[in-house]
Amino acid sequence: MDHFLYRDGALYAEDVPVAEIAAAVGTPFYVYSTATLTRHFKLFDDALDGIDHLVCFAMKSLSNQAVIKVLADAGAGMDVVSGGEYFRAKAAGVAGEKIVFSGVGKTVDEMRLALEGGIRQFNVESEPEMIVLDQVAQSLDVVAPITVRVNPDVDAKTHAKISTGKKEDKFGIPISRAREVYAMAAKLPGLKVIGIDVHIGSQLTDLTPFEAAYLKVAELTAQLRADGHEISRLDLGGGLGIPYARSNEAPPLPSDYGALIKRTFEDLDVEIEIEPGRLISGNAGLMVSKVIYIKDGEDRQFMIIDGAMNDLIRPAMYEAHHDIVPVIEPKVATAPATYDIVGPVCESGDTFAKSRAMAPVKADDLIAFRSAGAYGAVMASEYNSRPLIPEVLVNGDQFAVIRARPTYEEMIARDTLPHWL
Ligand SMILES: *Cc1c(COP(=O)(O)O)cnc(C)c1O
Repeated sequence: MDHFLYRDGALYAEDVPVAEIAAAVGTPFYVYSTATLTRHFKLFDDALDGIDHLVCFAMKSLSNQAVIKVLADAGAGMDVVSGGEYFRAKAAGVAGEKIVFSGVGKTVDEMRLALEGGIRQFNVESEPEMIVLDQVAQSLDVVAPITVRVNPDVDAKTHAKISTGKKEDKFGIPISRAREVYAMAAKLPGLKVIGIDVHIGSQLTDLTPFEAAYLKVAELTAQLRADGHEISRLDLGGGLGIPYARSNEAPPLPSDYGALIKRTFEDLDVEIEIEPGRLISGNAGLMVSKVIYIKDGEDRQFMIIDGAMNDLIRPAMYEAHHDIVPVIEPKVATAPATYDIVGPVCESGDTFAKSRAMAPVKADDLIAFRSAGAYGAVMASEYNSRPLIPEVLVNGDQFAVIRARPTYEEMIARDTLPHWL
């Protein structure tokens, strides 16, 4: 559920007409709903009610400072995958004890930043990383709390680019080698083993792969404890999917997911961490764009809009579907038109949808891409020298720009000429 609904044929973000935001900030832009963000966080938090837990928002899905602040104020921890994200979390006021550091390629500088600023745990993904982290921690005279990310070799049955838990994926260490790797970690004085981490992929629409992975983690917990390791925390990753098309069957609810977690781990006396990103931020955002031209092709109509693949890359990168709706619905019931919806970037890949049936629109009309909050703004670039589009946060009847659109001057000011030019 989200808070982008029609009232008298006009699309609203909570209590603000989307067209009013467009008039104020220009198009294209992203708009996020505070109520949806906090509602989705609460769904996870409530789903784990009764067991010791922390919901860490996967910041890579949406990392604007205002969004981090909204979720942190609601009680969320943060899952970060880079020094930049760690820095953002701290700048938004998140305590180090609520920040988890994930990712396969943590650098010495990133490790140092987190060890100095405070960290809940590092999710270590390889033996070489473990050795480096041990050295960095020792050089700072601290001990780094760690889990080891295990790769359970289960098929998440999701898009290949976002599957992370099969043995051919680059993530984690094979679960079959876990005991060996934990034995090595236990010998490194700069590290303190506290648990196990697993994350099998993103946009999972079925609980079965989670269940398969979590059963393996439960079994491993018992084995590692028998080997003498302290396993007091399990980080179960993120990955729960969202319905990108309203017509599709709904993916499992956070409550079902929470029930699975409780069922699997309740008796183990462990603290549970989860790292949802998309399910918190995905449906909390729209990308709003304006129609520039309707162009008649030989056998199709192109809707050319002012948003492009550099602003929202998911369709080009993952063949992702986004529902696309008019911001002002047609007054009378009209037969749908069929469009290829494309952006202005000079690539055929700059196509948002092919043969999409929707209410007929004309030049200057506004359209909205639903479910664009996650992996939208964060993956944007300035390809074709199109300035990053603004982000807007709505809260009830108020809205604020939370990242302004750079001017052309600001965009090029980051380039500098070498002295010989
Ligand atoms: C991407 C990622 C997540 C979040 O995935 P979602 O599908 O957005 O929930 C969580 N944990 C790790 C380690 C990730 O890489």
